[in-house]
Amino acid sequence: MEPEKLEAVPEDWQRALCVVAHPDDLEFGAAAAVARWTGQGKDVVYCMVTSGEAGIDALPPDECRRVREAEQVESARIVGVSQVDFLGQPDGILEYGVPLRRAIAGVVRRHRPEIVITGNFRDTWGGLNLNQADHIATGRAVLDAVRDAGNRWVFPEQLTDGLEPWGGVRAVWAAGSPQATHAVDTTETFDAGVASLEAHRAYIDGLGWENWDPREFLEGFARQTGQRLGTPFAAAFEVFPMGWGE
Ligand SMILES: [Zn+2]
Repeated sequence: MEPEKLEAVPEDWQRALCVVAHPDDLEFGAAAAVARWTGQGKDVVYCMVTSGEAGIDALPPDECRRVREAEQVESARIVGVSQVDFLGQPDGILEYGVPLRRAIAGVVRRHRPEIVITGNFRDTWGGLNLNQADHIATGRAVLDAVRDAGNRWVFPEQLTDGLEPWGGVRAVWAAGSPQATHAVDTTETFDAGVASLEAHRAYIDGLGWENWDPREFLEGFARQTGQRLGTPFAAAFEVFPMGWGE
């Protein structure tokens, strides 16, 4: 069976906000797309819901937090992103619910993006590979928080010091979803994407995957996705339109 074709994502926007559970989540495919967009002069901001402090078995959380935040900031810099917000929520035990929606809605109101990017929050990565609980909680909360951000009567305590509701998000894009419908050509910026994953050195070493090569890993996915878009390399997104009648 021919793999289903993917449609190109629109690029007629200026500001995007990427909200993911952990440092490294964006670097497993989406970062090359971010590099393309910052190269076009778009503004992209990163927001990490946790600092991935429970992600390295040999490193206690307080130490790990510092290492992983620094790696994420460097990884963002490589793809042209100069601002990384850390929400400081607890790694590994995120709960979908009002507190998480509140935290994310505040970030949406501050940055006023047109596009919000998150990670795959479906139950699996396709097949039998189960997704992780923090990813699922974050993605679901992102969808709701984008709506919350536009309603002045939801989390009204945030609306001080000139902060206004923001209802201008056109769509939420979930990177790497097994139900992806869209993609973007990452051929020109693939190398930057690899470098941004390699910036998570301590994390990758901590995984202990022998002879695991970030380039090879990313290339497999990028090539497969590219075949469905009609380009050498691409990154896939599931698109959730946030307006009515779209
Ligand atoms: Zn993650």
